[in-house]
Amino acid sequence: MSATARVPALMYHRVGDAHNDWEARYAISPENFAAHMQALARKGHRAIGIDALVDWLEGGPPLPEGAILVTFDDGFRGVRDHALPVMEKLQWPFTVFLVSDLIGQEDIWTRAANPAGVTYPLLDAEEIRDMQRRGVSFHSHTRSHASLPTLDAEQLAEQLAGSRQALSALLGHGVPYIAYPFGHLDDRVEAATRAAGYRAAFSTQSGFNRRDVNRFRIRRIDVYGTDTPAKLLRKVRLGCNDGSLGHAARYYLDRLKSRLLGASR
Ligand SMILES: [Zn+2]
Repeated sequence: MSATARVPALMYHRVGDAHNDWEARYAISPENFAAHMQALARKGHRAIGIDALVDWLEGGPPLPEGAILVTFDDGFRGVRDHALPVMEKLQWPFTVFLVSDLIGQEDIWTRAANPAGVTYPLLDAEEIRDMQRRGVSFHSHTRSHASLPTLDAEQLAEQLAGSRQALSALLGHGVPYIAYPFGHLDDRVEAATRAAGYRAAFSTQSGFNRRDVNRFRIRRIDVYGTDTPAKLLRKVRLGCNDGSLGHAARYYLDRLKSRLLGASR
């Protein structure tokens, strides 16, 4: 099986300093983010555009060896300040999923979860348009970062189609992709996402994306701010959120066992 038969998609959130353990999971320091991308590049990885991934899932052209997708949920300003320069230097495309009602505001949905009760700035319209001119692609993360399975049919359609409309007006083109807030989804949410006219949707379920993945449940590896570059590389190699050495050892042992069993048959 060639490396391009399975594509890892990485999920980051805020790029900037973390001030407590809760934030350390969702925020990566600018230095560590740069180290992550450099480690991937040294291992022969390269980021591909979101359209290339979805085209490939639909039977389109093959992807380069070592292809990965880099995504950022929520649209924090720190992505522009700290991630954009790193990605421009590598000439790597990336995708940001925006909360359409909160453009130019802050991540108010985290206030209850973050023990510090603080919020951080999100990109404003001008910054988004500037990044778009520089090759960044923007897609939907709903209108208000709602937990979609909790909504009734009308509210669900509002979040899905409403954000698509608002972002299309801002960006001047269609918005074919969405990332489910909190990764919350069920069959009803998936059906509503299809009905709202999206082409594909991104979950937070870990794993590789093979061509047979459900395009409305594309998998992503959750990258934590505390992940060292070595741990990130293990996550990418194993396609999971647990990049611990113990997990890596079990993975290779299982593979070895199944190979030995296969050979003895
Ligand atoms: Zn989010």
